[in-house]
Parts: sequence; C-alpha cells; structure tokens
Amino acid sequence: MNIIQDLIPTSNSNRPGTSIDPTFITVHETANTSNGANAESHARYVKGADAQNRQVSWHYTVDDTEIYQHLPTNEIGWHAGATGNRQSVGIELCVNSDGNFTATRARGIELVRSLMNQLNVPLSRVVSHQHWTGKNCPANLLSVWDSFINEIANSEGSDSIGTVRVLASELWVYNQPDWNARHQIVRRDEVFTVVRELFVNGSKMYELRSGLFITANTQFVQFNS
Ligand SMILES: [Zn+2]
Repeated sequence: MNIIQDLIPTSNSNRPGTSIDPTFITVHETANTSNGANAESHARYVKGADAQNRQVSWHYTVDDTEIYQHLPTNEIGWHAGATGNRQSVGIELCVNSDGNFTATRARGIELVRSLMNQLNVPLSRVVSHQHWTGKNCPANLLSVWDSFINEIANSEGSDSIGTVRVLASELWVYNQPDWNARHQIVRRDEVFTVVRELFVNGSKMYELRSGLFITANTQFVQFNS
C-alpha cells in the first residue's frame, strides 16, 4: 500500500503539533461529490487558507487510486470534536462523483487495517465520526456500518505469516527494505502483522502489513506464527 506523504506545513494554524497517542481510528467521508474532489485535491485543500479558517485537519484522505497523509499519526487533527481529536486518527474517504466509491471503500479498509496494526488499535475502536459528535458522517457507510466493520474483520490475517512483538524499549522501523531507511520508532509490546521475511545485507527483516519493515533479530523482537 503506497501512501503519499504531503504533510500540512507546521506553520499552519490547523497543524498545532499537539502530541496524541491515538487509541481510536475515526472514519469520515468528505461529503464533497464534485468531480475531481479526490485525495490529491483534499491534500491541497487541507494545506490552504480555507481549512485554516474553518479549523479543520485530519490525517489521511483516501480515493479510488491514492492515499494521502496530511499529519503524522502522533499529532492532533481537528476532525471529530475535542475528545475524538485527542484520541483518534482521522481518515476521510472521498465521495467525488467521478470516483469509484467501492474501490475507495476497499482502499480505506486496507488503510484502517494497516493503522490498526501500526497503532495497536482493536477493531472495537474503529469508529465513525458520528460516534463522537452525532454528525451524519460517514453518510454512505453509516447505514452499512456493521458490514463495513465485518469486512475489516474478515480482511484481517488473510495474507499474514504471523505477528511480531517488540521486545526492545524502542526500535526503528524502516520504510524500505534497507537498514538506512529509518522511518519511525516503535516501542516495547507493540505488535505488528508480518506478511513475509527477507534478507537485507545478510540480516533478516520482516515486512509488515503496513508496508514498513522491522528487524527479525530475536534480541529485539519476538515472532509468533
Ligand atoms: Zn466526518
């Protein structure tokens, strides 16, 4: 899964930089059915003046072909009311009329699954915007919310060879199969889904379902098949 990182500038008012430790994932729809209102267009929007005036921001936008990331998952976004903002990562699904919502939804499920692994969020904490504020969002999915959640549940584990638990207090994960491609730090007892193992410069790595990579050295991680 390829995610295009196009972060909101740190100088923007809708990226206050407040640290969060998200334990929920909040699903939204953009409610913008205009032609061309895709992920790229929302990536531009969320960096612009209107999003700052309206005090809105969120972490990811998904359309039928692409995923854009606008904020790091450990920074607050403004998408789900005070409590939801503090506790969750926000995902917007595009509903542009020139897009294929079935494909957007499938891609959204893939992203949710990946974030569940990455952030150790259980399925019971994948929630709608409505959960936090009562807003009719995500409008298309609310009427089929249970089946949306079931699809996430059923998609879990389909391509995994096992899980890996972090034993070290802090450990790098990599965004390429390359020991120099340090991406972010994960912490002890975080658990990730492994899709394959590979050797890089003679040392074993695991590829995670999120598309990131982690050492397979048993000094630092424990593998469970
Ligand atoms: Zn919403």
